[in-house]
Amino acid sequence: MTTKTYSSRITGLHTMTVAERLKTVADLVGLSDAAVAHLTDTATVVGEVADRMSENVIGTLGIPVGIATNLIIDGKERVVPLATEESSVVAAVCNAAKQCRGGGGISTSTSGPLMIAQVQLINVSDPENARFKILEHREEIKAICDECDPVLLKFGGGFRELEVRIIDSAQGPMVITHLIVNTGDAMGANAVNTMAEAVGPRIAEWTGGQVFLRILSNLADRRLARARGVWRAEDIGGPAVRDGILAAFHFADADPYRAATHNKGVMNGITAAVLATGNDTRAIESGAHAYAARTGRYRSMSKWEADADGNLVGVLELPMAVGLIGGATKIHPTARACLEILGVETADELARIVVAIGLAQNYAALKVLATTGVQKGHMSLHSKNIAIMAGAEGAEIEAVAARLVADSKVRVDHAEAVLAELRAKKG
Ligand code: NAD
Repeated sequence: MTTKTYSSRITGLHTMTVAERLKTVADLVGLSDAAVAHLTDTATVVGEVADRMSENVIGTLGIPVGIATNLIIDGKERVVPLATEESSVVAAVCNAAKQCRGGGGISTSTSGPLMIAQVQLINVSDPENARFKILEHREEIKAICDECDPVLLKFGGGFRELEVRIIDSAQGPMVITHLIVNTGDAMGANAVNTMAEAVGPRIAEWTGGQVFLRILSNLADRRLARARGVWRAEDIGGPAVRDGILAAFHFADADPYRAATHNKGVMNGITAAVLATGNDTRAIESGAHAYAARTGRYRSMSKWEADADGNLVGVLELPMAVGLIGGATKIHPTARACLEILGVETADELARIVVAIGLAQNYAALKVLATTGVQKGHMSLHSKNIAIMAGAEGAEIEAVAARLVADSKVRVDHAEAVLAELRAKKG
């Protein structure tokens, strides 16, 4: 892991070639030769590694990894690798982070790495009785869980709490046992699923019911990560911009149609950071959306306010079950290189960075929507993709993209016409 201290303010990164950028970041964080060599070598997982990670593998899909700059998280300068195919995600985080520096950057907190595994009990005539019987066996349940994973115990994890809920369902009441487990630096899915399967038969014995599903919950609301940022009014364009952002937030918080898109923006940053580190994007996404609906209505994941000094304050709290052990984090060489760039030593530290990225991304999206509108910046970045779709190659790509933006027509048909014109002139 790299432990160098540095400033995340890197000017001109976006104008460099890929090789120059990699060198700049490698020098900045003190990246190992192996990681540099891997990233230079297209950073895709080849052959055997990919084959081990999934099934029926015939190839790999290379997703660009970009570097988000300008971030200060908990007082520390950070550069953060983001894996995304969507243009403007990385640039948005860089801009948001730059505008937040005057307010001291983003502060974070976490609730601790507690995961929940569920054991479903059905066909119980006396659910209240069953619930109490299960609760009476807390110590035995703890022992069964802890025996499953001595390695986890060695690293300070293991069983922590027992909860038993009775839920109403279309087929009558069900008794749902929650095993609450500290999974340390692991995401913990496999760890807690094993425990749930081990405890299941005992619950059936004690209650006379039928144990059915035994699986973790991705609504990891005991493993929350929180980010808070203050954007000074003078750094964001004044009170009118701040009020525009607040109006945009209130819209999202009140209307699920808007909340879905607002939260998609949050997840643009979060998923990119989660993917870059080889963590499970689906686990994080399902947890985040479920948490956004915890009041019974799907709402904004973030909250925005004006403070007493007129500054804009944003907060984001989400379940953040990311790990440094297990899954692809240790296997995928690009994920390993990204973790090395981050220099994180605990899953808790990674969770804080990821949620901070989500908040920055959300700020950037709200600001653009509340001011110039999303298409201006988005389409100018997207214009290169459109140029490529129209068949532009090499230097033609920049030339065609520039014309599309200048003509305010970022469309494939126009790109084809511009390309034909360009080639006719040349030839
Ligand atoms: P894992 O089982 O590969 O690794 C976790 C294990 O590593 C722990 O149980 C422990 O024995 C060991 N370990 C070593 N050092 C540790 C440390 N410092 N802290 C904690 N544990 C340490 O992985 P996992 O995290 O249990 O599971 C993650 C994988 O499960 C992901 O690939 C995910 O995609 C997958 N998964 C997800 C779901 C879901 O989200 N619904 C379901 C099933 C599987």
